[in-house]
Amino acid sequence: MITPVAAMTKRVTGGSFLIEDIRPEDIFTLEDLSDVQKEIARTTVEFAEKQAQPQIPAIEEKNFEVTKGLLRKAGELGLMGIDVPEEYGGLAMDKVTSALIADKIAVCGSFSLAFSAHVGIGTLPLVWYGNAEQKGKYLAKLASGEWVASYALSEASSGSDAMNIRTQAKLSPDGKHYVLNGEKMWISNAGMANLFTVFAKVDGEKFSVFLIEAGTPGLMVGPE
Ligand SMILES: Cc1cc2nc3c(=O)[nH]c(=O)nc-3n(C[C@H](O)[C@H](O)[C@H](O)COP(=O)(O)OP(=O)(O)OC[C@H]3O[C@@H](n4cnc5c(N)ncnc54)[C@H](O)[C@@H]3O)c2cc1C
Repeated sequence: MITPVAAMTKRVTGGSFLIEDIRPEDIFTLEDLSDVQKEIARTTVEFAEKQAQPQIPAIEEKNFEVTKGLLRKAGELGLMGIDVPEEYGGLAMDKVTSALIADKIAVCGSFSLAFSAHVGIGTLPLVWYGNAEQKGKYLAKLASGEWVASYALSEASSGSDAMNIRTQAKLSPDGKHYVLNGEKMWISNAGMANLFTVFAKVDGEKFSVFLIEAGTPGLMVGPE
């Protein structure tokens, strides 16, 4: 298990190096990695080489139980909670560490996509924009790998132009819940996810997002 450390000092932001005077020592390079980050990188390489890579044939055969088992192991090692606050079972570290893990996991075939979709687009929107109730209900399960997350934005007629989604959300007549209608495509982890972050337009115009648990009546997950 990895122990959390305080976030690294932010020295150069975005593309500011293009217009500001920056000293070479202000620019982050791999030599600046902390001992904890190097330890995390070693843990990830060991996980990737010894546990995930031998399973690549089963993963590519869409054996979701194997992928889910590996996500669980990654969660036990702390690799899925880098961006998650400590109060929800995460390590609350920095984006350099997240990128380092993504780099080391990238040798694992499509498992690297399952991992990154779960950690990045599956979990991060909840960390940044979820309310306290939603975070309390889901984040610890996602950080530990007990649950798998997926992010459903794209549709057959909208990829890059995401604002053109057609999925509709309408308040039910009793005003107690929303009814969603629409179809999503190319959704990573959809075949095995427990939690779906689903984008829809409320009353056909207000772009919004809903957290939908697997097993919700009417939710259909088609062949991948
Ligand atoms: C492996 C994989 C996993 C995915 N996982 C998910 C997922 O988990 N959840 C999800 O919601 N979606 C997912 N997607 C879908 C992905 O988000 C879309 O493929 C992406 O948004 C691009 O949309 P598109 O494929 O319709 O391409 P298009 O939007 O049709 O783009 C085609 C080409 O046109 C270019 N282009 C588009 N608009 C412009 C413009 N205005 N100016 C100049 N060039 C432009 C693009 O750069 C691209 O080269 C996944 C896709 C892949 C390949």
